[in-house]
Amino acid sequence: MADLRPPRLDAAAAEVARVAAAAPDWDALAAVARPCVACPELAATRQHVVIGDVPLSGRPRFVLVGEAPGATEDETGRPFVGRSGALLDLLLAEAGLSRAEAAVLNIVKCRPPANRTPKAPEVARCSGWLRRQLELLDPPVIVALGLSAAKWFLGPRTVLAEVRGRPHPWGGRAVWATYHPSAAIRFGPNGAPRASLRADLTAVAGTLS
Ligand code: SF4
Repeated sequence: MADLRPPRLDAAAAEVARVAAAAPDWDALAAVARPCVACPELAATRQHVVIGDVPLSGRPRFVLVGEAPGATEDETGRPFVGRSGALLDLLLAEAGLSRAEAAVLNIVKCRPPANRTPKAPEVARCSGWLRRQLELLDPPVIVALGLSAAKWFLGPRTVLAEVRGRPHPWGGRAVWATYHPSAAIRFGPNGAPRASLRADLTAVAGTLS
């Protein structure tokens, strides 16, 4: 097996990508990502590297990708477990989907201080982990939750309102971009983001066999 040493402090994105690409499976990737200190500020303030959840079978029907862990995720080491996670679970259930059949990931795996938006170099470094996770999981469908995740897949000029509601080809897979549950919470139960998120998850469910 390749030498799997975690990326060094302030490592370049290429170093993270090289380590990630050498991980032969999910467990090896998780083991080498957990001590990652490539982003000095995030490594100094986080409690956990939030690797992501995968179904027990190891092969998800679809993958959900958010922006970065929040406070509860940082505390527990699991993605989407705070208020956003509770709403996501509810809307998945309303769409006829179950979180147990999904993998749940973030584009950045360490909580930015005070939940600030991840900086471009942090996204660049952490992209190596996400790319390898998607290769290993090999999902047919990916749902990008929120603008940061949508831009990661569809490009920096992405406007969420313009791309949501339909699949986009990405690396042989279908990417759907929709609102983050935190936006649905912010705009309230009758707000447009919640209705759009519910509609998009229902449309995704309709494409899954
Ligand atoms: S955000 Fe990603 S690349 Fe940066 S320290 Fe955390 S795991 Fe490593």
